[in-house]
Amino acid sequence: MAVFPIVKYGDPLLRKHLKEITDIPEILKLVDDMFETMYEEAGMGLAANQVGIDMNFAVIDISHAEEDEYPRIFINPEILDSTGRDDMEEGCLSIPEIRATIPRPERVLVSYLDEKGDYHEEWFDGLLGRVIQHEVDHLNGVFYIDHLTPAKHAIIDKRLAEIAETGAPSTGIVL
Ligand SMILES: [Zn+2]
Repeated sequence: MAVFPIVKYGDPLLRKHLKEITDIPEILKLVDDMFETMYEEAGMGLAANQVGIDMNFAVIDISHAEEDEYPRIFINPEILDSTGRDDMEEGCLSIPEIRATIPRPERVLVSYLDEKGDYHEEWFDGLLGRVIQHEVDHLNGVFYIDHLTPAKHAIIDKRLAEIAETGAPSTGIVL
């Protein structure tokens, strides 16, 4: 197993809509290393472009927080519908030392393929629903901080420029 370097804010691959996956065995070769990287970095989810891969899939594992959860793979996921609204603090391995409370739908209907290629449509809520929304954003070239108001976004602009340049901000910020 190997740990990938994390691609940071400022890299154009993080602004790209990733390529739809047709060859599932091809991504299964990458999945173990994706999980390994995510555990090494203490993340709950990791999108392929965060490790430099242009393929539309993400891995998620929130089992440290919810004991009946397990490592999941979402291939070509799409959010089909949503209900409610919830505020939750988010962070991102590609935007180190910044955290912000973000409003998002409370429940989302997600279509995806699993690692066997089987198609699912399933509602998710709570922490898992939140992490899925964060990762589906990544696969579409969107960051969680894109959901901040312009005034709040302005507070972190300088730190984002530092991350793009050096890989880390000079100071952390929690919004
Ligand atoms: Zn992220």
